[in-house]
Amino acid sequence: MDCVDEILQLFEKRGSRDYLGERVSQLEHALQAANLAAESGAAEALIAAALLHDIGHLLCAEENPAERGIDGLHEQVGSRWLAKHFGPEVTEPVRLHVAAKRYLCATDSAYFASLSQASLLSLQLQGGPLTAQEQRELEADPRHLDAIQLRRWDEAAKVPGLPVPDVTRYAEVLRRVALRL
Ligand code: FE
Repeated sequence: MDCVDEILQLFEKRGSRDYLGERVSQLEHALQAANLAAESGAAEALIAAALLHDIGHLLCAEENPAERGIDGLHEQVGSRWLAKHFGPEVTEPVRLHVAAKRYLCATDSAYFASLSQASLLSLQLQGGPLTAQEQRELEADPRHLDAIQLRRWDEAAKVPGLPVPDVTRYAEVLRRVALRL
């Protein structure tokens, strides 16, 4: 079994979990994010990052620590796990996608207004909008634009019942992008 099989199994085993208070499952959310990336012509590594950005939630035995007022730091859990198999073009947008959300909340009022209830709740746990200093720090990161793009797909990937390609469609993408299977 290689890491791609492992990822597919994880989606199969835990993908039916609720996506944190939204009306889509974790798997639906991941597939919608990946499909938005694919449709916008993103590089395969960023499509993989979109598919895998919340894998930290699936790796966690507890379904939704935010309900207990705890930030599970899923972006760090996920990016660390992914780093065993993928390079920074995949892991960095995953690691930075929460910072990117906090960045957008500070800099884009339309984005902030578009946040779902659950997303607003987790924003508080994640530290709220970035300060001006924190914004400059994120902008200095070479992957910040990928992370911001990913985070826009993330917020849009919450449409109940939207038909999108299934997870097996991404197996070959993941195998091409992986550094170590
Ligand atoms: Fe997400």
